[in-house]
Order: sequence, then structure tokens, then C-alpha cells
Amino acid sequence: MRVVLVSTYDLGHQPFGLASAAAWLRERGHDVICADLAVNPLPSLAVREAAVVAFHLPMHTATRLAVDAIAKVKLLNPAARLIAFGLYAPLNAAYLGEHGVDTAIGGEFEAALMEAVEGRVSGRLVALDRLDFRVPDRDSLPALTRYSRLHVAGESRVAGYTEASRGCKHLCRHCPVVPVYEGRFRVVPVAVVMEDIRRQVAAGARHITFGDPDFFNGPAHAMRIVETMHREFPALSFDATIKVEHLLAQRRLLPALRGNGCLFVTSAVEAVDDAILARFEKGHTRADFVEAVHLCRSASLTLAPTFVPFTPWTAREGYLDLLRALAELDLIDHTAPVQLALRLLLPAGSRLLELEEVKAVVTGFDPPALLHRWRHAAPEMDRLAGAALRLVSDLQKKHATRRQIFEALWRLAAEDAPLPENFDLVPRAAVPYLDEPWYC
Ligand code: SF4
Repeated sequence: MRVVLVSTYDLGHQPFGLASAAAWLRERGHDVICADLAVNPLPSLAVREAAVVAFHLPMHTATRLAVDAIAKVKLLNPAARLIAFGLYAPLNAAYLGEHGVDTAIGGEFEAALMEAVEGRVSGRLVALDRLDFRVPDRDSLPALTRYSRLHVAGESRVAGYTEASRGCKHLCRHCPVVPVYEGRFRVVPVAVVMEDIRRQVAAGARHITFGDPDFFNGPAHAMRIVETMHREFPALSFDATIKVEHLLAQRRLLPALRGNGCLFVTSAVEAVDDAILARFEKGHTRADFVEAVHLCRSASLTLAPTFVPFTPWTAREGYLDLLRALAELDLIDHTAPVQLALRLLLPAGSRLLELEEVKAVVTGFDPPALLHRWRHAAPEMDRLAGAALRLVSDLQKKHATRRQIFEALWRLAAEDAPLPENFDLVPRAAVPYLDEPWYC
């Protein structure tokens, strides 16, 4: 059967979801075409000949973009069956259904996708059975050189992407992983991860991003992988996402992480206000974050924090407090500017909707935007959030530095208040980063 797998956006990575699905479907003898619309146009001919078109929806932006792509596919081939898979598929199953998607699969999607393609299941499915993972088949995906690259010390490296685990054992209230995995995570066998890495190195990768929601949900597994990888490819660097709580609990592993090639750790810090962190049930405090910064620094690991700076509880002074904290901790160069301009996203199924104070500010679900709209009690904070996002977007287009953008955000929010004492425009350190600046 001809199956077209479509990715619309995957944070600048070669889409893992397509590669993994392709491996399962090709093993069953299906004729699979992979289309990554982030780098190529929709393959019209393949779509016209497809019996099934399946969209990978790992995140909010990808899902919004997919709705447009679905409309194009329906024009080209009204008879094709439409399937959606990935984290955001079951969360938005009803809306996708209105657009002609008959099956929405979340969680451990591969086996269920195969069943759906072959017509044995349909509807909204969250699959959490343990899978016998296959090595992702990346053969028909665009070359790694078409994707986001790692920049380190004036050098740019081709970057690959894999996942050593999926889901998460935590239940943070604002997180889209939680409504699907509900506190469960699944490890991918070392042999499968290593073969995926081996093939990407053969295709030119000199850096690997581990896209696990949290690399230290299973620290022994994570360390086995990076030690094996480093033995086989001593020059290969990597990055991973690890929550503050795990950085503290597994502090003894941080030097080994660095020793095995870790260049930076992304950590979803979200806020420096303990009351907001408590509402998110993040499992860390401001003091924990500060400690994690020092632990990473003493292990020579770069920490790249991410934030949700605009929430229903953020006042102007709280926003300035976040900027001040970043200056004090010398993290301005480590923080992607968009992280200082994001407004809390309330997707369908968000656990934050359990809170009465969130319900009180929500104005309704906006189906095309795939989120619950909310309004800050102080309208000036919504204006500030909008202005901050426009400012970051404009300055990034002009290639402003992170420090220039930080200064502009400070001036936007603080009006005449002087910049933090230790702020200056000259970067202190060359911070490694991937050149995909957006995040959601
Ligand atoms: S630790 Fe990260 S991935 Fe896990 S629930 Fe919290 S925010 Fe989500």
C-alpha cells in the first residue's frame, strides 16, 4: 500500500517520528514516502497515489501547520485515508476529525499506526504498550545537512537527533506529555539507539540531540548510552534535556555526562517565582535552579534554561526579576531570546485547567489555534507579552545578539529603570547552541 508520512515541523530536526514509522511500515511491505514540509514542498504526485496519508504531530506548531497541509492533501486526493500520530494527535482528535482525520494516535504510536494503516483500528487511541522498537529508517528523509546545526566555538557541526526514552514519569501541570503518558515513560533499547546514532554519523552527524522529554528519567540507561556512544565515537558531541530536580539528584553523573561529550543541557526552568513553580508542580524551587546552575558550571556543562515568562500570575516586577536573575547568574548568553517572550500555552487536556484561578482567566477554547485563550487580569501584561514576542522576532531577523535582545527586552519592560548592574553587551562565553531559535 502507498503511504505518505508527513512532518510539518520538528524543531529543525530531521523528523524522528517519520523515520521510526517508516521502519515499521516498510517491514510490512508498504511503499512509504516521507515528506518533510519544513524543508520540501508537499510531493503532489505521491499524495495523489496514496491510499493513506499520515501526519506526525509531536508539538503544537506542527499541529497548526498540519491543518493547512491536510486541506491541500484533501484537494489532491479526496479518497486518501487521513491519520494523525504523535503527542498532539489524541489531544486534538475532535478538531482533526472535523478536518477529515479518521484516526488519531498518541504515545507509543508505531504498532497502532501500522494497525490503522492496515484498517484494523480507527478513532482516538493512546497506545502505551511496550514496543519492540525498530531502528528508524532515515533513508528517504532529506539529508542531515538540511537541518539545524550545532554552533560551538566558531565552528558549525551537522547535527542528528534520536530518542533514548519516551514519555515522562513526572506530572508537571503545564506539560503536554502528561495528558498522554500520565506519568509513564518507556526506554528504547541501547542497541536500537546506538544503531540509529551509527547511521546518522555515517550520514555526516557530528553532534546528536537526545530528544527525550527528560534524559534522566532513567539515568542508568542514559549513561549506558552515552558511554557506549563515546567509546565508539569519541569526537561526537551531544545535548539532552534534563529537569532541575534530576540535575540535583544525579549531580554525581554530571562530570561523566560532560566527559562523554555533552556540550549542553536544556532544562525547563519555567520560572524563578516559587509560587508559579508550585502551580506548575515543577518539582523545583528558585534555589534549586540556582544550585543546578552552579553544579553544571562546576562540571563544565553549559545549562540552557527555558522559560514560560508570561503567565496569568506574572506581574511586570516578576518579569524584571527573571531578567535580573539571568544577569546575576550570567545566563544571558545561555538563554534563547524567545524563551524570554513566551506566553503560557494551554493546549487541550492541560492539567493547569484543574486550577480554579486558571479557569477564571480562560475565555474559551479556540479550535483553529488549538488552545484555550486566556487573559491576564492586568491587560498591560498581555500587551507587554505581545510586544516582547514581536521585539524578539524583529531583532532575531536583524541578527541581533542575545545580549542586545536582552537589553531591548529590559528597556521594554523596565522603562527607565537602570539595567542590572552586571549587564554588559560583550558576551562572556561562547555558548554552544542549535540554530533553531523557536520553541513550542
Ligand atoms: S519533567 Fe518535563 S517532560 Fe516531564 S512532565 Fe515535567 S515538563 Fe513534562
